[in-house]
Amino acid sequence: MTIQTGTLPHFWPLLDALPVALLYTEHANPAVFANMAALSLFHLPTNKTVLTRSDVQQIQLRCPEKLQSFKLEENPILQALNGCSLQVPVVLEHHSATLFLHSTSVAAEVSDTSGIVITLQPLYCAPNVPTLPQTSSDNAELEEALEFDKLMSVISTKLINVQENMLDQHIEDALAAVGEFCHADRSYLFQFSDNMSEMSNTHEWVRSGVTSHKDQLQQIPDIALPYFFQQVKRYHVFAINDVSTLPAEATAEKQEFEAEDIQSVLCCAMLADDKLLGFVGCDMVSRQRNWTNNDWRRLKLVGEIIANTLQNVRYRRSLQDMQQQLLLVNLELQKQATQDGLTAIANRRQFDISLQNELQRCARNQYPLGLIMIDIDRFKRYNDYYGHQAGDDTLKQVAQQFQRLAKRQGELAARYGGEEFAMILPGSTIEDCERIAKQIQQALVTLNIAHAKSDIASNITASIGITCQYPDKTSTVDNIIKAADQALYQAKAAGRNCIRNSSN
Ligand code: GH3
Ligand code: MG
Ligand code: MG
Repeated sequence: MTIQTGTLPHFWPLLDALPVALLYTEHANPAVFANMAALSLFHLPTNKTVLTRSDVQQIQLRCPEKLQSFKLEENPILQALNGCSLQVPVVLEHHSATLFLHSTSVAAEVSDTSGIVITLQPLYCAPNVPTLPQTSSDNAELEEALEFDKLMSVISTKLINVQENMLDQHIEDALAAVGEFCHADRSYLFQFSDNMSEMSNTHEWVRSGVTSHKDQLQQIPDIALPYFFQQVKRYHVFAINDVSTLPAEATAEKQEFEAEDIQSVLCCAMLADDKLLGFVGCDMVSRQRNWTNNDWRRLKLVGEIIANTLQNVRYRRSLQDMQQQLLLVNLELQKQATQDGLTAIANRRQFDISLQNELQRCARNQYPLGLIMIDIDRFKRYNDYYGHQAGDDTLKQVAQQFQRLAKRQGELAARYGGEEFAMILPGSTIEDCERIAKQIQQALVTLNIAHAKSDIASNITASIGITCQYPDKTSTVDNIIKAADQALYQAKAAGRNCIRNSSN
């Protein structure tokens, strides 16, 4: 069996879970496998478990005595892979450590279905990685870790379904928890802008007596802290035990940290769907501090919980926005389906629906149902003389007046078609209907729209037909409309600009 580059052996999850950084290779294969502890130790992307030799060459191992990087051919990892046992003092991302590098020829027998057995040659690379706790102080650490995990599970449960008004509070609770557990002086959350060009301190916890700088840390552009931005974006972690040892290219960062009295700082990137949202961090103000794997692990966990929450809230928000838009579109569609496009009052469709409903309601309650039909007199001549546009404007104006007069519950003014309008008046007697018809005539007089080509009057007038019935089970909308139409016909026959009802 040959382990192909990109293919992990089936027992890999076991090795991945070990608290020891582990690299291993096999004779005929150029690939080097790195478990999670090794990826974290060398600040390698956690999604890259299979490395090439050149990846290994590029791991930055700086020896403090030499104060320079190892030459590539001297890279102790490659040497150890070739069989040397080495103990190397190195600086890893400003963090001093002694690496014990040795390859053992412990044979691990791995067989595939064809029964071929190969020998793997693991290379152990153990920095100050903790072994399983044995002593009472280790037990205390384990208990603390359990307590922390319990707290995190409470916080993450709260954050999973958090309402937006409680989001800030819960994030601050999470920061307080990690700050306390890591014995930090400050813990905080920074969020990047969408284009990642600036960051803002959105949430913070500070130990009592420690100064907050949150208000000044808003919309910090990446050019203000270039080294920091680059490190967080590239390595997703920024760990400084002693701010005074920051390299020359981090002058701006050093000044900023000193201005905030920071002696040690640890920041972990927050990612959601592979997008960098920001980072969570801890500061030491009162003393200098060598950050441990536990600090890093805890901070990273809090970062992951917060990142997921922020992402959830964003999804929820965009879902709500979409629902809102859908609602508005539906309302608009509904409006379009029931409203006349020119006059903006009810259209014929709405008229038909309302008349049917009111007919049934009045029949049930034994109320009268009034219907008024209105036809603008000599409107063709008006159009011909003043133009179609002026005709449209006039139709809009008269429609508004009819709408204004249909003000009681259930009453409806509608455009019946062309220059004809209708008014449904449920619960109105014939006297009520006649009163409203007169108000319609009066409204047209008040509008006083000149109509030079009318042989009826010098302004726009209308002929009006009324019907008022007590509907019963046998009544139909067609009969009611017919009755109102007949009355309208009589009004026209009587010389227009007058009111007739179906009973006279
Ligand atoms: P009558 O007094 O007998 O009712 O005469 P009339 O000219 O009002 O009636 P007719 O049915 O002969 O003509 C109706 C006119 O209404 C014809 C048409 O140009 C006009 N009209 C119908 N709809 C619209 C519209 O949406 N805009 C405009 N500007 N005119 C319209
Ligand atoms: Mg007409
Ligand atoms: Mg007309």
